[in-house]
Order: sequence, then structure tokens, then C-alpha cells
Amino acid sequence: MGGRRQRIDLGDDEASNKKQKADDDNAEAEAQTHNPWTGLPYSQKYYSILKKRFTLPVYQFKQELLKKVMANQCVVVEGETGSGKTTQIPQFLLEAGLASQGETCIACTQPRRVAATSIAARVADEMDVQLGQEVGYTIRFEDVSDPNRTVLKFVTDGMLLREAMHDSLLSRYSAIVLDECHERTLATDVIMGLLMEILPKRTKGSKHGELKVVVMSATLDAKKFQEYFNDAPLMKVPGRTFPVEVFFTAKAERNYVEAAVRTTLHIHQCEEPGDILVFLTGEAEIEQACEEIRKTAGSMARDHGELVVYPLYSSLPPEAQRKIFSAAPKAQVAGGPPGRKVVVSTNIAETSLTIDGIVYVVDPGFSKQKVYNPRIRVESLLVSPISRASARQRSGRAGRTRPGKCFRLYTEQSFHKDLQETTYPEILRSKMSNVVLTLKKLGIDDLVHFDFMDPPAPETLMRALELLNYLGALDDEGEMTELGYQMSELPLDPQLAKLILVSPDYGCSAEIVTIVAMLSVPQIFLRPREQAKAADEAKAQFTHADSDHLTLLRAFNEYNMVPERERKNWCWENFISERAMISANNVRNQIIGIMKRLDLAYVSSDIKGDGSFSSMDIRKALTAGMFMQVAYRQRSGEYLTVKDNQNVAIHPSSVVNNRQDWVIFEEFALTTKNFIRTVTSTNVDWLVELAPHYFDLENFPKCEAKGELEKAYLRMSKMCKR
Ligand code: ADP
Ligand code: MG
Repeated sequence: MGGRRQRIDLGDDEASNKKQKADDDNAEAEAQTHNPWTGLPYSQKYYSILKKRFTLPVYQFKQELLKKVMANQCVVVEGETGSGKTTQIPQFLLEAGLASQGETCIACTQPRRVAATSIAARVADEMDVQLGQEVGYTIRFEDVSDPNRTVLKFVTDGMLLREAMHDSLLSRYSAIVLDECHERTLATDVIMGLLMEILPKRTKGSKHGELKVVVMSATLDAKKFQEYFNDAPLMKVPGRTFPVEVFFTAKAERNYVEAAVRTTLHIHQCEEPGDILVFLTGEAEIEQACEEIRKTAGSMARDHGELVVYPLYSSLPPEAQRKIFSAAPKAQVAGGPPGRKVVVSTNIAETSLTIDGIVYVVDPGFSKQKVYNPRIRVESLLVSPISRASARQRSGRAGRTRPGKCFRLYTEQSFHKDLQETTYPEILRSKMSNVVLTLKKLGIDDLVHFDFMDPPAPETLMRALELLNYLGALDDEGEMTELGYQMSELPLDPQLAKLILVSPDYGCSAEIVTIVAMLSVPQIFLRPREQAKAADEAKAQFTHADSDHLTLLRAFNEYNMVPERERKNWCWENFISERAMISANNVRNQIIGIMKRLDLAYVSSDIKGDGSFSSMDIRKALTAGMFMQVAYRQRSGEYLTVKDNQNVAIHPSSVVNNRQDWVIFEEFALTTKNFIRTVTSTNVDWLVELAPHYFDLENFPKCEAKGELEKAYLRMSKMCKR
């Protein structure tokens, strides 16, 4: 125990004192026979994990950390990935008595859902308790915690922000551990700003007691965070890392997925034993790479050992996610070549989750990143080059257990010239409508003077205020309306929230809530590459030619009519993801719960009760919520977004053909082309009827759509006269 490195940083005496103290603590912990939380005897598994925990670098800093936390309201912790920050530090705070069952709780925030759920499960194991009892998690639409029992909760940063809407001083919490702060996600930045308001109100002796904050990260600009949190002290946990040899390619790679597969197989053939971590950008790419690696690896097994391949991305079922932690396969025959594990992952393995045993990293240099263009009001996820800081983090993953190698699939010149030093904080590349609505709800009116670590661009804030005003959430003075309050209760994008709120007026809230739930889960319709034709035929049964939204609705209704025990089969036969359906159903029930609270009528256009619906009412309701995302077909046959005049094409996955004049769309995807996805045909008369304040011709750019809108207004005024 005790890495060699630590002795370099500290005087020898101090280091050995520290080690002695840590050893004493550990011996004491090992002597405990009963779990203080449950009163039950500890299991065998508990002790075996405990031994491993003692070897984590943070253990030697436990006393120092607790001393700093006791003396300060806020502490910044910087420590190498894998040093034990996320799993251990919240437990240290618990042991120090910071939480008490049924009264106060410790929260640890995570930018990603997968990290929150997976770490919660790990920590529950470490504490020898059942997940959802003493240790739990809360992510959007999923709460696995118990207000009377949970003392440590892993939450996505977005969920903590939601909680603040109902508990503005976060009074339930005695300590908040903000993890992965270097990522600077939008929600983390907003929470930090919020904490700046809360901390002075939650000092020692205040009504809800003192709130402690621990700001953690692998590599952060510690100074910046320390200064922001009123000169908070810093605790540095030296990592136990081994040298990593970095290789670049001589020429730029044209296809990075293919290059990543090739490199992985090459490592398996030519390099010493040790597991491989490959970074790709998303589910489709990852599944494709896994398949290709498996295909070739099978024939190499006899000479080079077995190669098991695990994907890792957020929409993967939890059982599959856990597999990445299993050990590499043993040699198939005694004395034969040992097996190897390959994990092909999104950015999540960069710092959030540590996989032991990785010796080789394959880094193509890309990740999916949010970009926002306020001029055309478009936010997209775009595959973009990573930063140099990310590249260093990725290579660091290879040196956790012994010296490793990192293969960067780009040139050294590109690393120095093309990559940025760090990624811009998300707040500078996101739309802000959701955040602005939340902040307004929290009573923060002066957005311009809110203490953001990096303030968003004024144009982005303007756009958000404008959108909320068009939706009727804010009045012309920027004050929150009753509708705005109701919208903020729904954990949805403002447009979808509005859609839910207006749906009873159109007699179809039952259908709209289904559609919104289906939009909230990824990938309902599966389309495996080798069965694309069969999958398309299956989807055709649900197709509603006017609308992707109605196609989703139809699929859900059919699924719902299948008896429960036959659903698995039904999903399989129809190329529908059962897991997505189950979570859509769960989301649906939760939104219905909120609708009840808000006193919204649950009405269906299905009068016969046979799963049929009124396409017109639903499309009209959709238009009432989504009138700001409309495209019009030009005489040339091309679509142009209305008001922003962007050329777009209907995505090939859509069921809507190119013959519809007016369409509303859910998503604007920037890829090789500007695509609009999840589309429904609408009509111009509805647009002028439902949103005259938006389709205000006086301030309308010149375009073909304008002529059609003028005609529609004329028709409407004639109707009114009659
Ligand atoms: P940090 O937050 O400093 O990056 P963590 O606390 O996440 O570090 O992880 C510390 C160690 O805990 C890892 O190196 C790994 O050995 C172990 N660990 C974490 N999660 C799991 C898990 N789900 N299964 C097995 N081991 C895990
Ligand atoms: Mg961590």
C-alpha cells in the first residue's frame, strides 16, 4: 500500500505518519463486524471489497480531507481518475456523521445518467446495503431512493437543479459533492451559480444547518474553481499512474471507425497481454466496431487468445453496462495465450468510470459535442475533435495498472495544431431556454448578473427569453406567467411542456402524453444493418403517412394491447426495443402523475376505445406546441425553415414524404446535410390560427412561405366576417 509517488510530494516523516494513521483507520474498519446502517453482520463480499478500497490513493488523504471539510464550507479536490474520489469521498463524509437517516442526506452529482446509476450500484455494494435504501440514485424519470432511509444519493446534475426548484435552499442536503466539474456541463455551471447564492444562507447555525460543498475533478483548473468559491482550499490526491507511451499516425485517417477496429486487432495480435479501451462517439459506431472486431477476432483466438468485446454507451441496459467490469477471459488451454478484454466506449470512460486492467487505449480523437447557433436557434450534437486535455485524459487510462500504450489515430501535427487546449464550457454552446425557465422559477430574475463562472452569450439569453415569451411562459416584461409555472413543473423541454399543457384543449392529452413519452426515450425502432429490409417492413405496419409522431403513437398503442407475457416476443418480431417501450411506459406514467397534480384533464380522442385516434386533433395540438419549428416546401421542392430560412431535408428515417407543404419537426440534425427529424405535416391555416403572434407578417423575412401565410390570414378574416 502507498504508492511510491506519494513520498515524493510529502516529506518522508509526514508521509509515513499519514500512512500509519491510515493503517490504523483501516485496521479499525476491518475489525467492525456489523453494518451500522442496517445492523446486520457484514457479508464476506464486504470485506473483500474493503481490502481493495484501502489501496485507493484517496485513503491516505481521508483525515486531511475531513479536516478541511470541517473547517471550510467548500473544498476543492483534484485527483487522478481512478484514485477513488467518486466512490470513497462521499462515504468519508458519511462516516464523519454528515448525514442522518430521514433528516439529511449527501448528494453526489454526475453529469451522466450511466455514471450515476453505475456508481450508486458500486457504492451500495461497497457499503453492503441494498441499492435504493441507504444508497440510491435519482435521474430524470427514475428515482431509486427512499426519503426515509437514503443517506447518500447519486444524482445527475440536472436532477439536483430540479430539486432546487422545490427546495430552494437544498435543505434536505447537508453536503453536496459536485463531481466531474472539469466537464463544465450546463447543469453543473448553473448549480455552481446557485450554490453561490445558497452557501451564505446555509452557514453554521442557519435554519437548515451548514451546507458543505466538495468540488471534485480529475484535472481541473483548480485556481479558477478555488477563486470562484471564495478561495476554497484545495486538496490534491496524487495519482498512482504509470508511464504511457503515445503513438500518432503518420497520415490522417479517413475513416476513424475502421482505423480503430484495425488498430484494436493489431494490438491483439502483436502486443503483450492487457485490456484495450477504444473511444468512439456513439451507439451506432460502437455497435458496428464491436461487431467487426468480433468477426475477425474469432479466427485469431487459437494463436492469440480469446478476445471479448463489450460496448459501453448510455442507452445500453444496466446488465450490459456492468459487464465492462468483468475480468478478461483466461487462456483457453493451459500455457496457451491468455484472453483479452476490449471495451468500446463513448466519452464516459474518459473520466467518469474507471475500468481496471486497461493497458492499451485507442483514441480516434473525436466525441459528440453540443453546438448551438443562436442565430438560427439550432442546437445539435456534432461529432467534433476532442481537446488536448481530453486526449491526455484518454491516454492516462492506459497507465492505471502498469505502463501502457496509447494509439492516437491522428498525426502529431494535428494534435498540436488542430485540437483546442480545452473544450469550451457547455454553457457557451447550448440553448438556454430550459435553464432560463428554471432560474425564473427559482426566483432569479436578474439573469445578466447571475454569478455564472462563464456567462452565456447575451444573444443566447435573448433567444431563450424570446422563445419562452412566444410560448407564453414569460410575459412581455419577462415575468413568469401561470403557464410558465406549470411548464417548469414538467421535466421536459419548454416546447414539449407546452404541448402537454395545451393538449386537453384539443381533446387528446392521452395521446400527446404517449407521444412525448416516446420522444423521451432513445431508439424505439431497431434497424440492424443485416436485417434492414425486414425492419422497415415491420415499421411500415405502424406508419401513419402524415406523421412520425403518430407512427410512434400507433406503435405504443399496439404494444399496449399485447398481453404482458407476449410483449417480449411481440417486440422482437416487430423490431421494436422492448427496453425503450418499458421506459416510455414508465415516463408516460410519471408525466400523467404530474398532469394530475397540475389538474390537467386526461382526455382521449379514442372514442371507440379500440386504440384509434383523431389524427387531426393530435396534429393540431402538436402544431400548437411546436409552431416555432416549421419548414415550408419551396416551389423548387426544397424545404426551408420558416423565419430562419435554413435549407433542410426530411431525414430518410422519417415516414413523411417530400410532398407535404408544411411540416413541423422535433429535431434539427446537422450532419453531412441539414436534416429535420421526427416530422409531422401541418397546415398553414392552423399556423395562423394558433400562433398569430409568431407568424406576425410585419416582421417577417421575405420568402415563399410569407405569401402563403398572407393568403391564410385573408381566408381567416373572411371566415370571421361570415
Ligand atoms: P475516481 O472518481 O477518482 O475516478 P472511482 O471512485 O470512480 O475513482 O473508482 C475507484 C476504483 O473503484 C476504480 O479504480 C475501480 O477499481 C473501482 N470501481 C469503481 N466502480 C466499480 C465497479 N462498478 N465495479 C468494480 N470496481 C469498481
Ligand atoms: Mg470519478
